[in-house]
Amino acid sequence: MSLFTTEVIDSGKPGPHLVITAGVHGDEFEPMQCIHALIDGLGEQLLSGKVSLVPCVNIEAFLLGQRKASDDLDLARICPGDPEGSITMQVGHALTNLIKSADYYIDLHTGGTRFSVLPLTGYPLNPDADALEGSRKLAKAFNLPFIWGTDWRLKGRSMSIACENNIPAIYAEYLGGAQCSPQGVIDYIDGCLNVLGMLEMIDREQPASRVQTVVEDPSEGSGHMQVCHPAPFDGLLTPHYSLGDQVNQGDVLGSVRSIDGSESAELIAGQSGTILVLHTFSMVREGDATFVIA
Ligand SMILES: [Zn+2]
Repeated sequence: MSLFTTEVIDSGKPGPHLVITAGVHGDEFEPMQCIHALIDGLGEQLLSGKVSLVPCVNIEAFLLGQRKASDDLDLARICPGDPEGSITMQVGHALTNLIKSADYYIDLHTGGTRFSVLPLTGYPLNPDADALEGSRKLAKAFNLPFIWGTDWRLKGRSMSIACENNIPAIYAEYLGGAQCSPQGVIDYIDGCLNVLGMLEMIDREQPASRVQTVVEDPSEGSGHMQVCHPAPFDGLLTPHYSLGDQVNQGDVLGSVRSIDGSESAELIAGQSGTILVLHTFSMVREGDATFVIA
């Protein structure tokens, strides 16, 4: 029994193998809707190569309505997984094999239940120049406003597997906050079709670029979203800024108040920039990232 379903659309003609996955985290819905739309509509358009589409990699997490499956392991941190391990380890192993079969790879995400993320595409800054240039081309074609190249040394992710195997790859993020944005679904479908057009796998005129910002930050740990402005204790978060706002170092981003009301703390911006990720769920646990600034 396979752990997840892969829909393969094969043109029957030579060309690249593009893998697109959704649902590495079970509570990220725009990617799943996007894959369903591609399964419905791509067949007759495909001129060369083949496309492998996974509507939901982490099915147990999806059915639980949460980011992670019952073993509480983050599928985006444990790759290459283990075929003999717990459910997430097994899925990680199967996902790793699928990624290794790709010539190009796209992994679609959102902020899930608790976070909202400014629409962006990202990639590891692979030391292999050809793979990196391939990832840059994918990100440009995908055509979201923000492009973020980050530390390639981060381990355990789908992107880490692609990077280790020098496969050009991008991930994408689009809002979240426990919602499924219709515009997010449309932009994800367009992004995937743009990449297919750029790779000449379908006939598609590339739209005008909507890319506004490209940041490539090779410093160690860049791109790790869980460590920014951690909540000092469990409590209620009151943000003073919204996603996409510009802030300056030293600004009070928001506050956390303990649930018994006895403690209150301000969250101070550690750098200037744009709010890229916001903890939209009002309850925060000690150590949770509240704001990510890039
Ligand atoms: Zn995710």
